[in-house]
Amino acid sequence: MILARDGREALDRAQSEPFDIAIIDWEMPRLSGLEVCWLLKADPRTAYSYLILMTSHDEPFYEMKALDAGADDFIHKPVNRAHLKARLKAGGRITEMHRLLVAQAQTDPLTGVANRRALLDRADQEIRRALRSRQPLSLLIADIDHFKGINDSRGHAAGDEALQRFVRTLGDALRPGDLIGRYGGEEFVVLLPNTALADASVVAERLRRFVAEQEMGPNGDSFRMTASFGVAPIALDAPNGLDVALRVADAALYRAKAEGRNRVVPSP
Ligand code: GH3
Ligand code: MG
Ligand code: MG
Repeated sequence: MILARDGREALDRAQSEPFDIAIIDWEMPRLSGLEVCWLLKADPRTAYSYLILMTSHDEPFYEMKALDAGADDFIHKPVNRAHLKARLKAGGRITEMHRLLVAQAQTDPLTGVANRRALLDRADQEIRRALRSRQPLSLLIADIDHFKGINDSRGHAAGDEALQRFVRTLGDALRPGDLIGRYGGEEFVVLLPNTALADASVVAERLRRFVAEQEMGPNGDSFRMTASFGVAPIALDAPNGLDVALRVADAALYRAKAEGRNRVVPSP
């Protein structure tokens, strides 16, 4: 629980520490509760936090103003404990549902990793973080070799399972801060924070080897799979550094395919 003594402090704390539910007094020094509601709802970081505005006013007009300012609920002073608890429970249901929807919107349902949109969002965040910490950032694109053949010979369900196994294999070989996302059908992007191109190629080579050594099929129907990798550094000072890196890594991947697959090609 976070406590703030006035509206300004409430706003500052709320914007630096994510929260689900806030109980906000209407009458506060420096910034009123109503203003805090407006500002929190206008900020994308807190736009969906659940705000309960508390006041001694009890005319409908004030309730209307509170809702208009972005409050999700309203409670009268003096506050009755049981009443507040019930409202917090109702708010908890909404925030839980929101959390679930956000998670679903960001996750690839088959493999459980970030979907393309979430991956690109996270990449933007990582670029900002890398700029602040002055650390290099690289990415790689991994594409399974001849995956269509697996679907064709073993069926789509086996293909799905192989994809899941492939992602688990990548995950097992990566470091905790590395971030994997599904970029397309059987193409995955891995973001490698604090990693320059040469080290990123070493990581890619480790992934390549792990994948090639792994049994991919279910019990009794074992088979191996290989993947090709394109690697590129992300230029942190260019406005479109991510797009360029993805294009460059894709071109490197194309070369890896052309040169025979099951290999890593770093950007030139
Ligand atoms: P290459 O070595 O050139 O990459 O050959 P490939 O067969 O892997 O590449 P191609 O792009 O021709 O085919 C990709 C295949 O991946 C075709 C598509 O049906 C399959 N695929 C994409 N998404 C899924 C999925 O979610 N599940 C399954 N089972 N297959 C998928
Ligand atoms: Mg492929
Ligand atoms: Mg592909």
